[in-house]
Amino acid sequence: MDCIFCKIVGGEIPTTLVGESVHSIAFKDIAPKQPIHILVVPREHHGNVAELAFANPEALVDLVQLGSKLAAEYSTGAFRLTFNTGAAAGQTVFHAHGHITSNTPKK
Ligand code: 5GP
Ligand code: ZN
Repeated sequence: MDCIFCKIVGGEIPTTLVGESVHSIAFKDIAPKQPIHILVVPREHHGNVAELAFANPEALVDLVQLGSKLAAEYSTGAFRLTFNTGAAAGQTVFHAHGHITSNTPKK
């Protein structure tokens, strides 16, 4: 499968990793839309967050926990966690991922 986030998870494409957990990795978005813009991505391939939620709820909770920890580390605590789901909603990479965005960086 030609999936860019599977390649990042597998180390085939380099990225700026900012965190990892049992089921997830986190890295900086290549085109940040806010001062803090981190992607949290399950290691396992699922097409979007809805598919992830039904197939592996434990991995989804793990992803939210990793994102929350990084949001607390990188921002003053005010952040968004968004999951674009479907092309018409702006999804461009069809491997589930959450965007952690914040306007209030800590560092
Ligand atoms: P979506 O539009 O699917 O919700 O989000 C995909 C995100 O992945 C976009 O914000 C885009 O900038 C980011 N992105 C796409 N390709 C790469 C890449 O190769 N490396 C990184 N770090 N981010 C990427
Ligand atoms: Zn994938």
